[in-house]
Amino acid sequence: MVKAEGVCKRFGPLEVLKGIDLEVQPGEVMCIIGPSGSGKSTFLRCINHLEKVDAGRLSVDGELVGYQQKGDKLYELKEDEVARKRREIGMVFQRFNLFPHMTALENIMEAPVQVKGSTKAAAREFGTALLHRVGLAEKEKNYPRQLSGGQQQRVAIARALAMSPKLMLFDEPTSALDPELVGDVLGVMRELAEEGMTMVVVTHEMEFAREVADSVVFMDGGVVVEAGSPDDVIRSPKHERTKAFLSRVL
Ligand code: ATP
Ligand code: MG
Repeated sequence: MVKAEGVCKRFGPLEVLKGIDLEVQPGEVMCIIGPSGSGKSTFLRCINHLEKVDAGRLSVDGELVGYQQKGDKLYELKEDEVARKRREIGMVFQRFNLFPHMTALENIMEAPVQVKGSTKAAAREFGTALLHRVGLAEKEKNYPRQLSGGQQQRVAIARALAMSPKLMLFDEPTSALDPELVGDVLGVMRELAEEGMTMVVVTHEMEFAREVADSVVFMDGGVVVEAGSPDDVIRSPKHERTKAFLSRVL
């Protein structure tokens, strides 16, 4: 579903991604761990067309991100084509970014109605089902300020799911939450994984990574230092940098 080969990204003189190679199969969950500034968010943003790759190849579902191939020539995608591709990918950020003036249900209905052209009735029906799925059936009329951080984050997940994405990206979805609210959000993500959603999750929740991930990638300094099964990377890391990082977070 996601394939990165030698992906590089720089901001001016700063080389942030220095040749990332990795692959996520359909239905797999990959957790990306690593210290602050190692390029984790930048990599997710590249997958979601929010940043342009400078070198290497990055593809989602067999299609090159940002480009279209015709014969042996590559053409840059136009803005509207990029927007269309971005809709096929759901993204959940550390901060929930819900629309403050809309209820939980309205937040979820917004994109299907405005972007996909769903009818309000269909969007409402699907939105209600999604709220039920994230355990918030009784909160559909609440505004974001009337919800806890964990509830807002679950609405954000439901909102992303409302576009029926083929891939879900999570960027530290629980790190802004009070500890007692983390479990509910991770629970929703775990269910999503069990239902077969392909997911790339940047997280510091090692227990989640150990139990839910099919593969774990440790990034440091813009490179993949170590990748493998959760057992390999988290339980018996081979590289000193991985060991040092894990000893700080575990
Ligand atoms: P964290 O764990 O703190 O979220 P991260 O691994 O997600 O870190 P990134 O956000 O990808 O790290 O940032 C990697 C580096 O790229 C950092 O040094 C950051 O300052 C830099 N960077 C990110 N976005 C930009 C930008 N738009 N312009 C310039 N520099 C940027
Ligand atoms: Mg980040």
